[in-house]
Parts: sequence; structure tokens; C-alpha cells
Amino acid sequence: MICQAIAKLKQQIPLLDYLQAHDWQPTGQLSRGRLMGLCPLHADHKPSFLVDPHKSLFYCYGCGRGGDVIRFAELYHQVKFPRALSLLHQWRGLAPLLHEAADFYRMQLHRHSEAVAYLYQRGIHSPELVEHMQIGYAPGGCLRGWLTQLGYPLQALQQAGLVTAVGYDAYTHRVVFPLEANLYGRSISPSAPPHRFLPGTKGGLYAWQQVRRYTEVILVEGLFDYAVLWQAGFHNVTCSLGNHLSLHQYRQLCDSPRTVYLAFDGDTNGSGQKAAQSLACRLREQGSDARRVSLPAGHDPNSFFTRGGNAQQFQCLLEEARA
Ligand SMILES: [Zn+2]
Repeated sequence: MICQAIAKLKQQIPLLDYLQAHDWQPTGQLSRGRLMGLCPLHADHKPSFLVDPHKSLFYCYGCGRGGDVIRFAELYHQVKFPRALSLLHQWRGLAPLLHEAADFYRMQLHRHSEAVAYLYQRGIHSPELVEHMQIGYAPGGCLRGWLTQLGYPLQALQQAGLVTAVGYDAYTHRVVFPLEANLYGRSISPSAPPHRFLPGTKGGLYAWQQVRRYTEVILVEGLFDYAVLWQAGFHNVTCSLGNHLSLHQYRQLCDSPRTVYLAFDGDTNGSGQKAAQSLACRLREQGSDARRVSLPAGHDPNSFFTRGGNAQQFQCLLEEARA
């Protein structure tokens, strides 16, 4: 019975789908459709991670580990077999639903001028960036209808946190950013709580698979900070979604020696700077070169750019950053 259930789970979750949902991208193709890329499990500089999509198996020539999607989940999330199974079960139920919701929200963005105006006001105006971050908009009052029409049961929408217990769309008047296994919703109305996540994990560092190959990385607190930096040409930026890193995010940051620029908020109560200081100490203990970027008082990277700062000026701040 258990063997059958496991076989079925593996059949339902092709390894390549799972890898790609965790931001893995192949860098080259070999014979018989096999793919190579950077290993998500160790500090990899040249692609040593081999994936056979037909057999749904992987092997890493760098760290010598390999196996099926369950083995991958165990290693990636650093959990034991039963927990890996339950994470995969959860992901299988959630992934198509979140994907569908994110697609729907993306369609809504350009139908709602208030959302586009909000993005503009937060310094986001490049269509390339909107595409890169797959930014959408939740107007409210229409996601539930759309997803139930597609055949998703109401109970599943409620379990995922997309619809409230009483049946309303959970995200209303929010700009939406898809994450690894969640959706972040930023309210565009000042009367609602600004930040919302769906229940469950926020996931790892934002866009980490694209960023980890850089020897110098800029870490910011929020996705709007990420957005303006990326737009200004700093593609080595990543985001921890808050100034406290999860253990998983911390391990990602330490997966290879690199210089980390901490561009946390310069908020007046000093919490961003305190967090940056303690993180810098921990990173240095792990052999990373951590530097704190001093933004003008009261600024975060987003406000720095929206109030007229430019890439050159930010580059100066990076060069002045202290250990
Ligand atoms: Zn490896």
C-alpha cells in the first residue's frame, strides 16, 4: 500500500517540475534529453547537477548525491523521509492552485489603473521588471469565482488561504508577487495591513538560483527594494522578505564564500540596522565577507531610488559599505 502511494506521488510530481518550481534552471542539454545545471544542494560553480527528466532522477558530480524527487526534497529541505513525503504532498496540492491564482492576478494587473499607478509610485515602471517578477494584482471579489469555475473545490481554496473561511477572496486591493510556494500581497490601500502572506513558509531567498552564481550579492528586506535595484541594473540582488532570515535562507547565503552587502532599512528605530549588524557577525563567522550599506537616515533602498537616487549613487554606497 505504502509503496503504491509513494510510486503514485512520484508519478504525480515529475522531478523537473519540482526543481523548476524551486528556481532551478538547466544550463545545458546532454544526449537523451538529460540536463545539466548548478547543484541546488551544494556550493557549485560549474554545472555538476545532472537531471534525467524521463527517469525523474538526479545525480550531482560535485557532492556525489543523487536519487528521486523524494530524496531531493529530503536533501533540499534538510528533513527526514516522512517529512519530505508530507512536504511533497502539500506541494502537489498547492502548486497548481497557486500557479493558477498568480496567472489570474497577472491578467488583472493591466485592467486596473490604480494598481499600475501604485507600482509607478513605488518606482516600478519597466515592463521587463513586471515580467521578471511576474507581478499581478488582486482586485478582490473575483478569484474565487474564477478558480471554482476551473474546477477547484472551495475547500482547497480555503485551505490554501486564498479564500477566507466565510468565502471572500483573501487578497483584496493588493499587488501580488509569486514566491517559491507562496504569494506575497502588498496592500495598495493605506487602511489595510500592508504585508500579507498565505499560510505556510515564505520559502528561500528570492530568486536565489539566479543570484547565487555571483561572488557579490546584495541582500534587501523587501520586494520593492529588490524591484528598484533590479530595475537599476543590479541583478545580483536577493531578498529575505523581512530582516530576520530563516535557517534555510541563512544556509543559502552561506552556501559558498562571497561578499554580502546588507542593504537593510535605515529606519529610525534602528531595527533594520541592528538586524544587519547581527547578521553580518554571523556571516563573518561562516567565512563570508559581510558589509553594511548605510542608506541616508529614514530610507530603504526603495525610497532611495523613488526620491531621486540613481544607480551610480547606489554604487557609491556599496563602495563605502563597512564591515
Ligand atoms: Zn551537489
